[in-house]
Amino acid sequence: MVASPSSTLPDPLPADRRERISGWGGTMSAVSYVYRPTTVEDVRAILELAQSRGLTVGLRGAGRSYGDAALNAGNLCLDLSLMNRILGWDPEEGVMRVQPGVTIRQVWRHAIADGWWPAVVPGTMFTSVGGSAAMNIHGKNNWKVGPLGDHIRDFELILPNGRIERCSRTEQPELFHAAIGGFGMLGCFTSLTLELKRVHSGLLAVEPIVVPSLGAMIAAFEERLAPADYLVGWVDGFATGAHLGRGLVHAARYLPPGEDPDPARSLRAETQDLSAMLLGVLPASVAWRLMRPFTNRVGMRFVNTAHYHLARRHRNGYRDSHTGFAFLFDHVPDWQRALGPGGLIQHQSFVAADQAREVFTTELRLAQRRGLVPYLGVLKRHRSDAFLMTHAVDGFSLALDFKVTQRNRGRLWALAAELNQLVIDAGGRFYLAKDSTLTPGTFAASLGEERLARFRALKRACDPEGLLATDLYRRLFPAP
Ligand SMILES: Cc1cc2nc3c(=O)[nH]c(=O)nc-3n(C[C@H](O)[C@H](O)[C@H](O)COP(=O)(O)OP(=O)(O)OC[C@H]3O[C@@H](n4cnc5c(N)ncnc54)[C@H](O)[C@@H]3O)c2cc1C
Repeated sequence: MVASPSSTLPDPLPADRRERISGWGGTMSAVSYVYRPTTVEDVRAILELAQSRGLTVGLRGAGRSYGDAALNAGNLCLDLSLMNRILGWDPEEGVMRVQPGVTIRQVWRHAIADGWWPAVVPGTMFTSVGGSAAMNIHGKNNWKVGPLGDHIRDFELILPNGRIERCSRTEQPELFHAAIGGFGMLGCFTSLTLELKRVHSGLLAVEPIVVPSLGAMIAAFEERLAPADYLVGWVDGFATGAHLGRGLVHAARYLPPGEDPDPARSLRAETQDLSAMLLGVLPASVAWRLMRPFTNRVGMRFVNTAHYHLARRHRNGYRDSHTGFAFLFDHVPDWQRALGPGGLIQHQSFVAADQAREVFTTELRLAQRRGLVPYLGVLKRHRSDAFLMTHAVDGFSLALDFKVTQRNRGRLWALAAELNQLVIDAGGRFYLAKDSTLTPGTFAASLGEERLARFRALKRACDPEGLLATDLYRRLFPAP
């Protein structure tokens, strides 16, 4: 783990507030003064406190962003995780009002027995709604239903000066479309209203499709865009030649009324809870330790190859719970720790549909040629959206997970720079929740100067003194 340069802080605030916090990937960490408010008044007081001491405030939800998005070295970290009350629930309309620290897990557990499921969820249920809105997360259904922001009816945002702004598509629409996805730089969400999706069963019908190459995977996606509700592809990063990009696609659809013989049972929260045991015998909480011996090149080549060949035996469809399908990563809590002290970075690139095959083939070949093979690859389908700091395009994303060690760190960042350039040349985009390697130049080239100028203008209007900042913000928006 790389210690922040400011581990030796001046001491304007109580020393017992100082904590080292890290990004989820474990490659970046920082010492900050951490405050955990429980009320909006607390938030306002903390903003004032920081201002009076000449410090900046970095917002943090559940800390599930991979890199430095929720770190603020040497300054304040405003951790919203204790503002975690569900403020209202309408089971007729499927509308829920929450405080920002409410997790996606709390949302689905509260709503599912009434026949509702969050319209958009990430690969883990442990993100907060505030942090998810600030990154405008996408799910495995992004091409169909858009990002989380498309399912937020309204929110309240406290600005650095303490004023609370209420935003929706009709009230302050510009701020609505910029604060969602605005990575906590315009204000702090203090409440959000979500519109959930009606479901008639706690089960999904899942179709596994084994694909021998990246081209076949993309074709499998395109064929299922209409019938499927969710699509996700696992890519074997070790496969080469004609098999490059081979893997497994999972297509899933909701069950219509009448298809589940016992919806009351499948819609119970307890039925959806992931098992604390793996294979019925192994406590899930310790499973990451058993994965550790495999998290090297030889081991991961073996795991990827075995997964591909075993998958070929499962050609029949099956039913899975919403949680089992959506939150695959949560089956093994803390799995990222299996990678060792260096942690991991994820490189997720978004490119237009007609360029995806060529760009992603080049990315995989390049990683292999550099001797830095991704241990995990995931393909998703997206559509563009109306948010200012959008990461989506009408196309595909490929997320590649790389193990970081002291020895490979320099080479890995150099590879990421090459990958970033490929994406920019293809007119693609990046996702700040996963980023660790972008520079101001690469970020500006991907988002475009016009969007950046609009964002900067809003930042000046909402936060003229630059009170809100994070390590990610300083990395991509360095002071002139
Ligand atoms: C295993 C795993 C799988 C994932 N899968 C996906 C996926 O499929 N799709 C996807 O889109 N993402 C995915 N992610 C990324 C994750 O959804 C995002 O990083 C999300 O933002 C994390 O939410 P959080 O509450 O942990 O926020 P944090 O990481 O704590 O913060 C994220 C950002 O939100 C800001 N912020 C936090 N709270 C507030 C607030 N109240 N008001 C304003 N700004 C705030 C922070 O300053 C920061 O910039 C995954 C992450 C993990 C670990």
